[in-house]
Amino acid sequence: MPTLIHWFRQDLRLADNPALSHAARQGSVVPVFIWDESLPWMPGGASRWWLHHSLVALDADLRKRGSALVVRQGKAADVLAQLMKEVQADKVVWNRCYEPAAIARDSEIKTRLPAESFNGSLLVEPWEVKTGSGSFYKVFTPYWKACLNFLATLQPPTPFPAPTRLQGPKVASDSIAGLGLLPTQPDWAGGLRATWTPGEQGAHQQLDAFLDTGIRGYKELRNRPDMAHTSKLSPHLHFGEISPRQIWHAVHGKKPEADVACFLSEIGWREFSHNLLHYIPTLPEAPLRAEFARFPWRDDAEALCRWQRGQTGYPIVDAGMRQLWHTGWMHNRVRMIAASFLVKDLFIPWQQGAAWFWDTLVDADLANNSASWQWVAGCGADAAPYFRIFNPTEQGKKFDPNGDYIRTWVPELAHIPGVHIHTPLEVPGYSAPMVNHAQARTEALAAYKNLKP
Ligand code: FAD
Repeated sequence: MPTLIHWFRQDLRLADNPALSHAARQGSVVPVFIWDESLPWMPGGASRWWLHHSLVALDADLRKRGSALVVRQGKAADVLAQLMKEVQADKVVWNRCYEPAAIARDSEIKTRLPAESFNGSLLVEPWEVKTGSGSFYKVFTPYWKACLNFLATLQPPTPFPAPTRLQGPKVASDSIAGLGLLPTQPDWAGGLRATWTPGEQGAHQQLDAFLDTGIRGYKELRNRPDMAHTSKLSPHLHFGEISPRQIWHAVHGKKPEADVACFLSEIGWREFSHNLLHYIPTLPEAPLRAEFARFPWRDDAEALCRWQRGQTGYPIVDAGMRQLWHTGWMHNRVRMIAASFLVKDLFIPWQQGAAWFWDTLVDADLANNSASWQWVAGCGADAAPYFRIFNPTEQGKKFDPNGDYIRTWVPELAHIPGVHIHTPLEVPGYSAPMVNHAQARTEALAAYKNLKP
């Protein structure tokens, strides 16, 4: 009976895991997770917290099936070569990742070791849809239309069930705790623990709760941070505790159709961002529109710090930044407002905002984060036009009309009734606005105008 190594990466689940199912069908399976610090873009603090708990959950699920997670540290190619020798493995299998460094690493491993890779993370892989001229899509709407056509003819396969039993040799493992992923001094993860259940089971509970109460009205209410109408599946999707294919099948045919279609199109934005990162490896660092490098960015550590701490004096921005710090997640609408404020009101480079998100989001994802920041800054592929500058006060009034979201996260303002919370005047303990938005907007528009090639 052949022995296969299943290399877990961003697919920390047992069900609908194509590479794992393949290995389990072939013979005996050695499931391994490798902590490889030689890669760029190692997970930030909040993601490390999540990863620790997700690995613990995965190990427990494997043990229920007669197996156990093997944890190793070091350069992935060397660890796999050593492990193959140790267990006399015939092949290593994995589900594909789409970050440039992961692709380079995986391609190299394929030249050294017998290996096979699978699609476990996307509905449509980047090379499966192309424009009429054979290039990749840079605009979302035609991209998603092409994906939906592709999926209509080739329905996403029915998700694989989790293998009921996994047999394999006993193998020495490092401990998960030994990876040092949890914060200790200080332990800042209390808010994360109170908010999330990492792991495959937690992912399915989250999906079920969303299908029960959230998806009805999603199209309209997904923009309301004061309501719970989005799925909060983003960290589960990032770590692969649930697959987009499972989500697709869970919502397909559900009603109301408009809400389901809108929700699937957000999953489509995730696919689109992965498509962009695959074809534009510089997406995390360099503006897609090169002229944006000439924008008069400011290096202002103090302003950056006030934004990070939620002390800008703009209530909706501050609420978002504090929700992020406390829970490791921020509502999408507020991410857009807070990001726009950093870039277009403070003139701070989008890369510095993206770096903060990278460290503090539990769903930090190189494709989604980079593409979204470029979109907000106006320098991305299918970007918000540069002249669309969010007015943080008006956005607050529109999307948090009674101020309940702000009241939750900015206790200094909790006593202010109704809509007045968006324009607090000299509230003790709360900062005055750090910039005048109208003035900043005029400056930003002038600076953007000067960029025209
Ligand atoms: P839902 O509305 O329930 O959407 C379902 C899923 O679709 C999400 O879980 C996510 O996987 C995907 N999705 C939704 N919106 C987007 C989008 N605009 N782009 C790509 N995928 C999307 N998302 C991340 O997963 N990781 C990030 O690091 C990240 N950084 C962002 C940075 C900025 C500046 C902005 C504006 C957005 C960012 N997003 C990121 C996208 C989006 O805000 C989150 O995916 C969403 O808020 C997650 O909440 P949810 O699961 O409840 O979303």
